[in-house]
Amino acid sequence: MSEEKKPARKIIETSKDMGRYMAEYYYELNDAAKTGKQKIAWCTSVGPTELLRAMGFLVYFPETHAAMLGTSRMATDLIPHANALGYSPEVCSYMTSDIGAYLKKTTPLSKAFPGIESIPKPDVLVFNTNQCRDVQDWFSFYAREFNVPIIGVHAHVGVKDATEPIIRDIATQIENLVEPLEKTSGNRFDMALFKETVRNSRKCSDLWKEILETAAAKPSPLTFFDAATLMGPAVVGRGTTVAVGLYEKLLAELKQKAAARDGAIENEKFRIYWDGMPVWGRLGAHSKLFSGLNANVLASTYCSSWIFTSLDPDDPFRSMAKAYTELFIVRSDDYKEQYIEEKLKIYGIDGIIYHDAKTCPNNSNCRYGLSKRIQKSTGIPTLSIDGDLCDMRLVSDEQTKTNVEAFIEQLSEMKG
Ligand code: SF4
Repeated sequence: MSEEKKPARKIIETSKDMGRYMAEYYYELNDAAKTGKQKIAWCTSVGPTELLRAMGFLVYFPETHAAMLGTSRMATDLIPHANALGYSPEVCSYMTSDIGAYLKKTTPLSKAFPGIESIPKPDVLVFNTNQCRDVQDWFSFYAREFNVPIIGVHAHVGVKDATEPIIRDIATQIENLVEPLEKTSGNRFDMALFKETVRNSRKCSDLWKEILETAAAKPSPLTFFDAATLMGPAVVGRGTTVAVGLYEKLLAELKQKAAARDGAIENEKFRIYWDGMPVWGRLGAHSKLFSGLNANVLASTYCSSWIFTSLDPDDPFRSMAKAYTELFIVRSDDYKEQYIEEKLKIYGIDGIIYHDAKTCPNNSNCRYGLSKRIQKSTGIPTLSIDGDLCDMRLVSDEQTKTNVEAFIEQLSEMKG
């Protein structure tokens, strides 16, 4: 089938509102950085953003910027500049491409949002190592460059259950951030405002969960490739009422599509689960590849990472500690297996793709036998594809295409 004739995924109208939201988000940061009228905190994508917002900071997420370096395919050329400083080509390509962009004084923001010339300078850098150690190294680079404070939470990893001692420890670490944040922001900590921010964050998270779950409908009104960009507000807007409003609108649209049996791709025959990071530089190409085979990649571990069902405005510190410890990436393989098996049932999955991302072992779950164990327990076929989130030198398009086509053929034979 020629490229032109391949059925593409359908437009989700609310995605236009999401685009406008992201523009406003970056222009506000740009304005604050230029005028100094509001302090800016940089935060890791699953860091304690609720606290930062409640303390009056605008919050910038370098990972979202790095994902843009990936989608714009600028990353591959920028990574060697970080390698030259001693950052290995084997470590997180979000980090190395972002550092490379900084060194080369370039950003995809300039093209996406005219008038923005650079990333916003931080007043403080706040990390949580719940996802990986790389984020701390990444932020440490900028702490040296900008000579600003770096503070953070050191998480527990390989967690089977979020037990009381773990929650107590993380809650204390989050509380300990208050004092340095007061110093940087010049604002006093306000518990009422903090609770309100956590309330908004929980609402955003609940809506995002419902949005992703619309993909359980047959056919699914949503693809993983849509969700990977629609998740913008769940990452950068947690704790705000704007993100809540946007997701209410998106949920209504997707529910209406599901009721009308209006699938995200034409003629959905195969339902696929994606584990691991997106290949940002191939998001569109992969969307076309799968939809051209009538396969809808409709659910993922990755996009569900911004669901925080434990957030509780009445117990903000402890509930944040619990929510950010229950994250999939921090958990033991026993937990991960159970989690994925449950999702396969909810979404009626025919096959699983594991993205083995070369520079992100933390988000690659097919290296220690997990994929084979799940295949054995569920009978659902799996395919691992080698690749990367940002470094396109590690991606073989031909090999991916051949493997995916053979995999879908296998699913087709199984379905008879
Ligand atoms: S989880 Fe992976 S992609 Fe994300 S910052 Fe860590 S190493 Fe990079």
